[in-house]
Amino acid sequence: MAASMQKYFRAFRMSQRVLNILNVKVFPINIKALIESCGILICTELDYKEFRYKTNDKRPYIKIKDGRAYYDPNRNVYLIVYNENIRNRHRINFTLAHEFAHIVLGHLTDERTELDRGGLPDYAYNRFEGEANAFAGNFLAPPIIIQEKLNRNPFDPETIARAFDLSLQAVRNYRVEDYKSWLKTQLIEDEITLIERYRTDKPASHCKQCSSEFYNKDWMYCPICGNDRLFIGGINNYMKYTGIKTDEDGYAKECPRCENEEHFPGGDYCIICGTEIINRCSLAKDDGTYDRFAPTCNYEASLPGNARYCPYCGSETTYFRSGHLKAWDQSNDAVQAFPILDDENGEGFPF
Ligand SMILES: [Zn+2]
Ligand SMILES: [Zn+2]
Ligand SMILES: [Zn+2]
Ligand SMILES: [Zn+2]
Repeated sequence: MAASMQKYFRAFRMSQRVLNILNVKVFPINIKALIESCGILICTELDYKEFRYKTNDKRPYIKIKDGRAYYDPNRNVYLIVYNENIRNRHRINFTLAHEFAHIVLGHLTDERTELDRGGLPDYAYNRFEGEANAFAGNFLAPPIIIQEKLNRNPFDPETIARAFDLSLQAVRNYRVEDYKSWLKTQLIEDEITLIERYRTDKPASHCKQCSSEFYNKDWMYCPICGNDRLFIGGINNYMKYTGIKTDEDGYAKECPRCENEEHFPGGDYCIICGTEIINRCSLAKDDGTYDRFAPTCNYEASLPGNARYCPYCGSETTYFRSGHLKAWDQSNDAVQAFPILDDENGEGFPF
């Protein structure tokens, strides 16, 4: 495929745009998780057939080769169906990115595409396919990040395949050529935003259970869910748990119990209701006494206002113990790092 990035420049531009909207900073991208976090459903062809049977869907069924994207107006939801018989992980990932492209590029707006590709003139169908491929390739492996990973070395397909979790064949067949043609283009603003975030936003670790990420490399436990298995680096589709707002010294801006905003300088307790307004490890001792049998935590300073657990020893924090914070999976203070994409009219996402 010749120079698809230049030929389908709109799709290329959109791919870089969407990377920024979704705050992507980690490669390889976990494309399935990222698409699902946009509120798009992904299922296998087998599941889809079962679903059609249950819902008595009489629309003509089209056999799925790799994948297909649908819009379900009844539920106002996008659905990506992929062929589970394909065992090649790289191919499935590319298929998911390709179908995602059809959705965000607004290709499904044309009802004929969804129901029957035969209703679409060949040139339009081919253009849609070209656009979706250009989007998918440059979304999974943006040329500006390829350049960064190459670090001034000549293009080495194996390095690139590993860095973006692509098949060597896909890199040899498409990425090399696309990258060469990209080198002749002007950088667009979204690429600059992308590379700046990639270079600077480097979380130390993340928790797979509650999808939080952390910048403090000394933390051994997840402060949100208490999990003791943290993984190196950040994740793209992370969650933010807002918790109780604190100032830079760790004092609640507003008393978590009575909402009083007035604090005695340096006082750890609310002057109105007496509740502790600083979040600490419940095992931290600040009274200087020593009890050889009582477990203690050496971390006595304040913890973030959303911490349910001490990131140093894994014990509950005072905010959590006092009920000021709910358990991470029962609280409603969890927000997606980027807004769930809503497409009320089924007209493609408003990018
Ligand atoms: Zn397609
Ligand atoms: Zn966690
Ligand atoms: Zn109070
Ligand atoms: Zn502790």
